[in-house]
Amino acid sequence: MQTTSILHPYGARRAALRNLLDAHRIPFLVVTKPVNIYYLTGFRGSAGAVMLGRDHQVLLVDPRYTLQAHDQAVGMEVAITRDGILATVAKMASRSGLPRAGFEDHHLAVSDFEFLRKEGRPSLRWVAAGGMVEELRAIKDAGEIEQIRRACGVTAAAFEETLRRVKPGVRELDLAAEIEHRMKKKGAEGPAFETIVASGQRAALPHGRASEKELQSGELVIFDLGAILGGYASDMTRTVFLGLPPRRVRRLYRAVLESQQQATAAATDGATAKAVDATARRVLQSYELARHFTHSTGHGVGLEIHEQPRIARSEKSRLRPSQVVTVEPGIYLEGFGGIRIEDTIVVGKDDPEVLTLASKDHWILD
Ligand code: ZN
Ligand code: ZN
Repeated sequence: MQTTSILHPYGARRAALRNLLDAHRIPFLVVTKPVNIYYLTGFRGSAGAVMLGRDHQVLLVDPRYTLQAHDQAVGMEVAITRDGILATVAKMASRSGLPRAGFEDHHLAVSDFEFLRKEGRPSLRWVAAGGMVEELRAIKDAGEIEQIRRACGVTAAAFEETLRRVKPGVRELDLAAEIEHRMKKKGAEGPAFETIVASGQRAALPHGRASEKELQSGELVIFDLGAILGGYASDMTRTVFLGLPPRRVRRLYRAVLESQQQATAAATDGATAKAVDATARRVLQSYELARHFTHSTGHGVGLEIHEQPRIARSEKSRLRPSQVVTVEPGIYLEGFGGIRIEDTIVVGKDDPEVLTLASKDHWILD
C-alpha cells in the first residue's frame, strides 16, 4: 500500500540495504552513525547501533532509550543493553559464527574500532563498509521529497518576508536571527546550518557567517539559509544589491544567474556530476569569471545538509531520478564582494523539479 510505505518506509530501506550487503558479500553491517540508524529504523536517539544482515535485524540501545526505541523503531527487534553498545555488538557479532562483519569506517572512531577487534572473536574479520547507507539515502522516496519540498517552502517564505527589513543600517546578525525566527514560526525544527548573511566585501567569503557589520547602500548581500523540517534539510542562496547597481554588478549577476540556470537544466537523469559542474563553469568562463568560482557546484541534501551525490569537478557518478541536490555557482572578488545563487532541486527523468521557489529577479533593493 502506497501510503503505508510512505509512513513507514523503514522496512523497504532495510531490504534494500540487505541486497546491497549481499552484492558486497558482507553477511551483516553494524550501523553506528545516528542519522543512518534513523533512516533505517525511525529511531531518533543520539546513541545506539543497528546490526543488519540476512539473519540479523536488531536495534541496540541503552536503558535511557527503552521507551523511545520501542515507540519509534517500527518492525525492529529492540535489545536493551547495560554493558555498553559496542561491547554488546562485539559479543553478538562473535556469537553469530559469521566470518565477516561490516562497519561504518567513515564514522566509527579508531579507538572504537580497536575495541571491537579486541573484544570480538579473533577469527571474525571486520570489513570497512562505510557509505552504503549513504548510497541508499541519495535516492529519495516520495515522502522524503515531500518533506524537503516543505522545508524549501518554509525557507523561501522566511527569506522573502525578511527582505522587507534588508536596508542600509541593519546588522547582518539581526537579519540572520529574523530569518531563523521566521523559519521556526513556520514549523521548522531549526536552521539546517548557521544562516549566512555576508554583505559588502564580506560577501567575497563563500562561508562568511553573519557578523555585527551593518549593511550599506551600494553593497551586495549574500543570504545562504536552510531549514530542518521533519528531519529533512533545505538549502538556498540569494544575493541582493542595495541601491541601483552599476553596469559591472548587473553583468556579474547575469553571469551567475545564467550559470545557475544552465547547470540546473543539465542536471538530468544519467548526466555525470562533473558534466553539471562543467556547465556551470563554462557559462562563467564565457564572462571570463570562472577563476572566481572557487567551490564545487552542488551537493545532495536530505537528512544531512551535505550528502551524496557531490556535484564537483572530478565526480564521475551519474545523476539519477529522485536525487535531491543543490545547484549553487558563485563568484567571489576579493575587496569587492560576491554573488551566489542556489536552489535545491529534484533530478527527474526529464527536467528537474526546482524546489526553491524564491524569486531571483527581484534582487535590486532600491
Ligand atoms: Zn547553501
Ligand atoms: Zn549548499
